[in-house]
Amino acid sequence: MRQSPAQITRHLGVALGLALLSLTPRAASADTGQSPIVLCGSDAGFDLHSLTLEQSTGTPALDRALIQELHAQSAFFGVRPAFYLYSDGIQNAMATPEIFPKTPGTDGTVLYQMDLLSEHLTSAHWGGSIVAGVIAHEFAHIMQFSDPARYSRLLDHHGTVKFLELHADFMAGYYMGTKFADKPQDLETLARKIFELGDNNFTSIGHHGTPEERHVALRAGFRYYLQHPQNDVTAALAEGEAFVTSVFAAY
Ligand SMILES: [Zn+2]
Repeated sequence: MRQSPAQITRHLGVALGLALLSLTPRAASADTGQSPIVLCGSDAGFDLHSLTLEQSTGTPALDRALIQELHAQSAFFGVRPAFYLYSDGIQNAMATPEIFPKTPGTDGTVLYQMDLLSEHLTSAHWGGSIVAGVIAHEFAHIMQFSDPARYSRLLDHHGTVKFLELHADFMAGYYMGTKFADKPQDLETLARKIFELGDNNFTSIGHHGTPEERHVALRAGFRYYLQHPQNDVTAALAEGEAFVTSVFAAY
């Protein structure tokens, strides 16, 4: 029996988190010991739990496509974060090891601001590839949280989140390679959009690397997949760490 659009969309946030629970459990998240870690998010007076969470994009077909992409990435990366859309606050996408009460047992949480999602979708003919790339960047952060040793090494390398961000860009490029190997123009579109949008930390040069550095990391991940399609995500994570820490300046 077919579900009505309302049934499909009503529980987008909760359903995604719960649906992803059936995947292989991961090791515990990085122990923060202090205020919540939110990568890509603004750090000025930001209250993660005050966001207005939405249960649908408002377009059933888009909800289904989003759910399909999230399941694909969850299987690919081997993590199962909850995913929420939010409608207020700054235009951003972000990842946090925080687990929301409605989605217990998940590997942290990915959040995507709805206006930004719409802008990404409509900004290019293949807008869906931008959304996929942004989500892959956030999934990469979730993977960083699940490996406290790597997380600490990347953080300690610079003292800011710069190398965590560049590493996530490498992994986003890697995922784009698996998905758009025959359409490198989509990678260029993604690169432009994720570096030009927003006036927040997602594009902060001081903390996240320059646009050029981010572009180089993204391309390197994309190229790594094309050259080593037989390697798995674990190998890509290690290669990404080696690449960003050896190529970019640690200051
Ligand atoms: Zn990020």
